[in-house]
Amino acid sequence: MTPNPHYEPVIGLEVHAQLSTRSKIFCGCSASFGAEPNSHTCPVCLGLPGALPVLNRQAVEYAMRLILAVNGEVRRESVFARKNYFYPDLPKGYQISQYDKPIGEGGEVVFRDDDGTIITIGLIRAHLEEDAGKSFHPENPGADPATLVDVNRCGVPLLEIVSKPDIRSAHHASLYMQKLRQTLEYLEICTGNMEEGALRCDANVSIRKAGETAFGTRTELKNMNSFRSVERAIAFEIERQIALVESGGAVIQETLLWDEKTQTAHPMRSKEESSDYRYFPEPDLLPLHIDNAWIARVRASLPELALSRAARLVREHGIPEYDATVLTDSKPLADYFEATVAAFPEPKKVSNWIMTEVLRALKDRNQGIAEFPIPPNGLAELLQLVEGGAISGTVAKDVFDSMLDTGRSAKEIVAAEGLTQISDDTALIAIIDNLIAAHPDQAAEFRAGKHRVLGFFVGQAMKQSGGKANP
Ligand code: ADP
Ligand code: MG
Ligand code: ZN
Repeated sequence: MTPNPHYEPVIGLEVHAQLSTRSKIFCGCSASFGAEPNSHTCPVCLGLPGALPVLNRQAVEYAMRLILAVNGEVRRESVFARKNYFYPDLPKGYQISQYDKPIGEGGEVVFRDDDGTIITIGLIRAHLEEDAGKSFHPENPGADPATLVDVNRCGVPLLEIVSKPDIRSAHHASLYMQKLRQTLEYLEICTGNMEEGALRCDANVSIRKAGETAFGTRTELKNMNSFRSVERAIAFEIERQIALVESGGAVIQETLLWDEKTQTAHPMRSKEESSDYRYFPEPDLLPLHIDNAWIARVRASLPELALSRAARLVREHGIPEYDATVLTDSKPLADYFEATVAAFPEPKKVSNWIMTEVLRALKDRNQGIAEFPIPPNGLAELLQLVEGGAISGTVAKDVFDSMLDTGRSAKEIVAAEGLTQISDDTALIAIIDNLIAAHPDQAAEFRAGKHRVLGFFVGQAMKQSGGKANP
């Protein structure tokens, strides 16, 4: 869909990142995903009378990591607030969140557009809150239509990161989220798994006539569970608003649910004003105080993030910037590259292998590098065999596939299957003599100065030797 040049979209994202703490934010229940429904509960996260919340220090520290990594400001005093609403997956009847004094303020997310342009999106705030439970609506309820509720997720820590309305296209919204996920992954504070709901996004969308400065009325989109659906939902909504305004209508502020099946969005409920939530300071929790020393400690513990790591890979290993960007896309992939280079110090050769064979294999196997069966040492051993002339580059690719299939090492496979490269003159000359005898015309052409036919002979020799001849 080409954007309509007469209108400018304005987008602000509210991203919820589930912090990967072991326990929930206000109680000792496990925060892990996928347990037996309603098995991770206690009086605190169920909101039973008299139970008191205790703040999880690790969740606070994870929030600080993200805020500092995006150059935001950690508030020295932040306050938890009750956000009151009724929903079956919220047994307490309120959610503990932060309101006018969030833990983080400001900061920015910086990413590159497809053409390399640097895009900077400002952040309004980042606040800590607890997650709600999950409702299940069986697809084929039969005679007993029921909604099932799993409250395991109640009290799982979330960091809500709210962007300024700085985003100007559906594609940028997706790139912004991808950069945020990458940052959360590098910080090791969120798995970023959108299918499991560890990273969720509500998109606020409005349009205005090109050249106008005031913002239009916005709608809020929910229920997108991949980067692609974020992009599609926003593009859909932009088009819907433009068509509405063009036909004389007006956008009303409401919440829309994205439907992945039909690729359309439908109104869910009219949007609450914040006054509907009756926010008030959480009486069971003291204000959270964070001193400079704590901030300094967290700042000092921050890892190198993708952009600076890419720059370092170029500097230290002399690989092209393109390679460095691909390799630092995820922290585990960059770790894999550096560990392989440590064992086989030929960075460009390692980079070539990872960017082609390894990434292809990951894609075929629908795997992440963390689950990849060939460890960095294993890949280094294979490259060493090629480098030392023990096997040819062609054979190396077969050995690589066989390492994946069998889990055996490169050396074992080469020895067991007799794949060692033939570099021995006597053996090669025998093959070559036979070829010359079998192709007298080509041999004559070569002697007459048509040296291009050499390629033909090399190809034939590789074929005859089962790829083992040293070309
Ligand atoms: P609320 O309190 O209703 O959540 P906020 O002011 O906190 O509203 O804004 C929520 C999100 O909506 C932010 O990401 C912000 O950038 C975005 N936003 C605000 N106004 C607009 C607008 N007119 N068009 C698009 N997005 C907007
Ligand atoms: Mg909001
Ligand atoms: Zn609990």
